[in-house]
Amino acid sequence: MSDGQWPEVYKKLGVRPVINAQSWVTSLGGSLMRPEVLSAMEEASTVFVDMIELNKSAGKVIARICDSEGGLVTSGCSAAQVLMVAACMTGNDDLKVEQLPDTTGMKNNVVMFKGHRNRYDKAFQTPGATIVEFGNSTDASDYQLESAIDGNTCAVAYVIMPFSKSGVGLKRTIDIAHKHGVPVIVDAAAEVPPRSNLSKFISMGADMVAFSGGKGIGGPQSTGILAGKKNYIDAAFKNSLNLHSPIACIGRPMKVSKENIIGLVTALELYIDSDEESVYNSWRKKSEYVLEKLGGIQNLRVVIEDIPTDRQGPQPVIYFEEGWGGISPEEIRKEMSLGDPPIFLGVGGLGDEINIVMTNVMDGEEVIIVERLNEILKR
Ligand SMILES: *Cc1c(COP(=O)(O)O)cnc(C)c1O
Repeated sequence: MSDGQWPEVYKKLGVRPVINAQSWVTSLGGSLMRPEVLSAMEEASTVFVDMIELNKSAGKVIARICDSEGGLVTSGCSAAQVLMVAACMTGNDDLKVEQLPDTTGMKNNVVMFKGHRNRYDKAFQTPGATIVEFGNSTDASDYQLESAIDGNTCAVAYVIMPFSKSGVGLKRTIDIAHKHGVPVIVDAAAEVPPRSNLSKFISMGADMVAFSGGKGIGGPQSTGILAGKKNYIDAAFKNSLNLHSPIACIGRPMKVSKENIIGLVTALELYIDSDEESVYNSWRKKSEYVLEKLGGIQNLRVVIEDIPTDRQGPQPVIYFEEGWGGISPEEIRKEMSLGDPPIFLGVGGLGDEINIVMTNVMDGEEVIIVERLNEILKR
């Protein structure tokens, strides 16, 4: 990367920009905000406002876009996960809100399909809840879900993420949980795009759904979106930031600044007005370039995959076949990440393949990626 592309603010700290072919991962900075989002944030920073009024109004925008009764801007999808569980445990009871993370006297079990357990689910436990698993890591039955629900269940959590199994599926999960009077909360952090998912899980009957604001939506990296039924969103709000009352709450360390609330709302509005198809096409074009330039290496199979539920947009995937005796996928990733500029590639999903996610690859960077890959692969 030439010095001209090294922003002074990072240069001063000695932090080099990287090429991100690994998607909207938190570890590489999520996504980039559009200039309109940044200027909205700058404008937001010039005055003081009532933060409760601000987040209530922002919540109405979320509710309109997600077709839900209520909404809330949160500090990442993770904070939304904390607040969803807290809301299910406390309802609108101020005393319970104040009591968390001590859950004495509250239902405090979150039922979850074992195959959905993941490194983000600690957030469900943060407000004091315990996760109760059902099924095994690949499958589950209606009966197993039904048996896991009891009088101490505050919610059933459902996770939608790339390459995850569906268990009994969201629809059945909702039917069964609701039959027992238990709400369903959904972690769909990285499921946007497609835009249709913003309202899909709500329309299926989920009580609350959480998304990241700083992944595909392009809002500030540390924001999230919580959408859902009014009574639950009100309870989540109560657990989030009770500035005007003396109540202490579990969400206090997860505040969202006025600039971030405005940034998220602006990004969300721009995102739903964006041309999804032309964005997808630009990812496809870069993928085709990579495919063309990476051809002809023995025992490597390079294909463009576009699996909506698993891969984030069309992307080239490199499979290492039986006879491949060269450098391992892991070593390739490592070497790419140690080069100049550092290049971060996808970490597979099906097994040991390498995927090159185009969502955050800037125009022209695909050329640099291919050059470096060819150097390493053809050695
Ligand atoms: C990214 C992610 C999260 C965390 O979201 P943040 O917005 O970074 O807090 C939670 N769950 C899943 C499945 C994710 O992919």
